[in-house]
Amino acid sequence: MDLSLFPRIALGHFPTPLEPMGNLTALLGGPRLWVKRDDCTGLSSGGNKTRKLEYLMAEAVATRADVVITQGATQSNHARQTAAAAAKLGMKCHILLEDRTGSTDADYTDNGNVLLNRLHGATVERHAGGTNMQQQMEQVAERLRGNGANPYVVPGGGSTPLGALGYVNAAIELVGQAAARGLKIDYLVHATGSAGTQAGLVAGLHGLNSDIQLLGIGTRAPKEKQEAMVYDLACRTAEHLRMRGGVPREMVVANCDYVGPGYGIPTPGMVEAVELLARTEGLLLDPVYSGKGMAGLIDLIRKGRFKTTDNVVFLHTGGSVALFGYGEAFGLKGSQG
Ligand SMILES: *Cc1c(COP(=O)(O)O)cnc(C)c1O
Repeated sequence: MDLSLFPRIALGHFPTPLEPMGNLTALLGGPRLWVKRDDCTGLSSGGNKTRKLEYLMAEAVATRADVVITQGATQSNHARQTAAAAAKLGMKCHILLEDRTGSTDADYTDNGNVLLNRLHGATVERHAGGTNMQQQMEQVAERLRGNGANPYVVPGGGSTPLGALGYVNAAIELVGQAAARGLKIDYLVHATGSAGTQAGLVAGLHGLNSDIQLLGIGTRAPKEKQEAMVYDLACRTAEHLRMRGGVPREMVVANCDYVGPGYGIPTPGMVEAVELLARTEGLLLDPVYSGKGMAGLIDLIRKGRFKTTDNVVFLHTGGSVALFGYGEAFGLKGSQG
């Protein structure tokens, strides 16, 4: 596994801290809970997409792109971090937002990440839920090329073999941090969506021969589809790294029991997890990903899935900016239309 072969542009603050969650551990009566702070990557309030963008934007620069195109849900953290990265590198950014929730709350449609896209100078167009967003991006790219621009398209979530290298790197970083403090990590748990984070971690942990058990908590697709997506991308990431023998299928585990009614739609477990972490650890999760991921972790702990002596690391993938689009879920009076 030699990541030095791949150009990378520094966009974030690394390594991110690995911290104990003593209050939550005590409250739940074990296991020993830790948090890997990828919400603190620095770029435009941080999040997991920064690691992927360090590789993706290096390719954009290498191709002399002058505009970056990407897509996501209305409250996409990926879109916001891409807009910030483009601003930092002197490129334009055009974002396609898909309405995946149908919410008409003005905070959801215009505040949070949407506000930050605007501040970073990105242009935004909106599409109905179910639109073929990749195809729409290619059409925009074609149009811009016709106008003499040189666009670079970042697929949703930055989840390509190149983007996933960011999480191969994160696996190396985390294993090194744990070794330095004499910590044996038993489990690593995180929210999984477009699959790049989990795929990179699978490839990285496998390449390191680590025995950390990785568990993705789904936020959109059912288990079978989510695991197939992660496995496919993990195999392609391993290939990109020229790792021999691919990755074992059994390393890919996603629990998709905590999605609730759908992507980006609040669940009671998410609300409980966000409030609990805010009140016990002073930590801000997000309503779409890390809130549901933590809801899953808390439920599995209550069901006795872990030994009290296990060390369980929750990878905090960021996204708290989206809280400002979800006030209603936390009891704030809605601002319709
Ligand atoms: C995108 C995102 C995820 C999911 O990561 P994938 O690589 O898309 O699976 C998790 N948490 C947050 C906050 C995100 O923005």
